[in-house]
Amino acid sequence: MAKDSYLVGLIGSGIGPSLSPALHEREADRQGLRYLYRLIDIDALGVGPQAVGDLVRAARDLGFDGLNITHPCKQLVIEHLDALAPQAEALGAVNTVVFEDGRATGHNTDVTGFAASFARGLPDVPLERVVQVGAGGAGAAVAHATLTLGAGRVTVVDALPGRAAGLAGDLNRHFGEGRAAFATPDRLAERLAHADGVVHATPMGMAAHPGLPFPAELLRAELWIAEVVYRPLETELVRAAREVGCAVLDGGGMAVFQAVDAFRLFTGKEPDSARMLADIAELAGGAQSPAGKAV
Ligand code: NAD
Repeated sequence: MAKDSYLVGLIGSGIGPSLSPALHEREADRQGLRYLYRLIDIDALGVGPQAVGDLVRAARDLGFDGLNITHPCKQLVIEHLDALAPQAEALGAVNTVVFEDGRATGHNTDVTGFAASFARGLPDVPLERVVQVGAGGAGAAVAHATLTLGAGRVTVVDALPGRAAGLAGDLNRHFGEGRAAFATPDRLAERLAHADGVVHATPMGMAAHPGLPFPAELLRAELWIAEVVYRPLETELVRAAREVGCAVLDGGGMAVFQAVDAFRLFTGKEPDSARMLADIAELAGGAQSPAGKAV
């Protein structure tokens, strides 16, 4: 019998402002599905991140079809799952759990979502030498995506050099020695001078973290820029890079395509990514071409 309703949710801390409920439910409404996306905020529940196991079991027992998982539970959830999809296993982080026949399987649609956004928005850019600024949770996911897309070498830079070194080590173990390196922030100018493009994965540019992650003088028209921050869509980096004439991908595409991939996993139905890109332009504000193309 075909399913006629879906119940999904998001587990994390401080998730009140999340755009995920609107992104999923708007698309489900357009498809004529009964689809509820609930927020399960560990802060509001007064529990710590370790409670994620109990929450996942409760959601499964109460008939949820799946869950998104966000900070600070993406690693902690793994021990409570029955199986992992390959990207989630490689990264050691899960942002999507699917319940099927009583089993919980973990996926990582941050990796597949960034890859899909990049392939769509910056389809023909050179990928031999990529610099990535930011080695946190999002940084690990997008570095996996960039190397999976065929980047020759990714040099990771972070204000915490130990983090950059740790991520580069993980990437080399997974993708092969020499595919990743790390550099300290004082070497960024030199690395950017020889790079094809930059992936930006720090919080700089969000309302709470205004500013640029590195001086605008380091930008040049030949560099492509892929931003992960998406609130606002037009970060200071996106604006400065467009002014210089760089090919630019804003962070809205990653946010949409991680939701596209999760929606497909939850329902088995194909979401309309163009409509969801228009949704994020409205929900997150700022400039974004409806087709999500680099502009
Ligand atoms: P995080 O705190 O885990 O990691 C951020 C890293 O950036 C840290 O290692 C920090 O040391 C480093 N950093 C901060 N400022 C820096 C600077 N000026 N120069 C060099 N390194 C610096 O955060 P996260 O979970 O990785 O998230 C980062 C951003 O990614 C968030 O702001 C969020 O908006 C965005 N994000 C977007 C999507 C999307 O779908 N588009 C998904 C996840 C996260």
